[in-house]
Amino acid sequence: MELTPVTDLPEIRPGDDLADLIADRAGDTLADGDVLTVASTVVSKAEGRTADLADYPVSGRAQEIADSLGELAGEEKDPRFAQAVLEESTELLIEVPFLLTETRFGHICVNAGIDRSNVPEHDLLLLPKQPSESAARIRDGLTERGYEDVAVIVTDTCGRPFRHGQRGVAIGWDGMPASRDWRGEQDRDGRELGVTVQSVVDELAAAANLVTGEGADGVPAVVASDWAFGDLDGSDELFRSVEDDLIRQALRGWEWE
Ligand code: GDP
Ligand code: MN
Ligand code: MN
Repeated sequence: MELTPVTDLPEIRPGDDLADLIADRAGDTLADGDVLTVASTVVSKAEGRTADLADYPVSGRAQEIADSLGELAGEEKDPRFAQAVLEESTELLIEVPFLLTETRFGHICVNAGIDRSNVPEHDLLLLPKQPSESAARIRDGLTERGYEDVAVIVTDTCGRPFRHGQRGVAIGWDGMPASRDWRGEQDRDGRELGVTVQSVVDELAAAANLVTGEGADGVPAVVASDWAFGDLDGSDELFRSVEDDLIRQALRGWEWE
């Protein structure tokens, strides 16, 4: 497997056609059947998902959250930012010492994934509304440009529970399953695997994130070649539902001291 950055992409503007811009620069690097990862930052920019703090009139709830966050941090927190996070979320899982929420498309992350870095001219960059639909549009655009069957993964950088450090995760995908189901296959001793479902889109996103970096590199898209899902067993389940998520259920009864 080979990971190749798509270089020389410009600053992405609202309305930009990412499939076109990427196809123009990827050339022969991108081939039929490859996987293309695209950072959500540029998908959001192309989709005009920028926002300004002034767009968010503050509700009582947002003020309350900003007050408790501010008290803990020993400095004032902008309630308009809390309001933006609330508006992008369907459930608030942790309120202090940071906001952990479920976004409208089912992904759980800090601050609803709203970024304040790599956003010129605006205060905020919201995540794409439906990242798998964004991935599908990019994939269709690449098909129109003559690329056959390129799977597309929209990535973001997230922290994780239990471990220090952040890493790339998939928040949307199209053209391949989210995971590979190993259940029913055998280990080296002939024992049947009972639970292993490998989140291949997250693993590809994390690998690609090594190439994009997190700062000023200007590399939001990466081609993964010589790797294909093929016709293995897979599934599109990535985000757990509440019934299926013990950690989330535990958090509902948990309070920060
Ligand atoms: P996120 O992980 O989706 O939140 O995105 P990051 O802010 O970590 O950026 C990922 C990569 O995309 C980094 O290499 C950035 O420098 C690059 N990047 C961000 N915005 C743009 C842009 O508008 N144009 C280009 N060419 N690169 C960008
Ligand atoms: Mn981000
Ligand atoms: Mn990142």
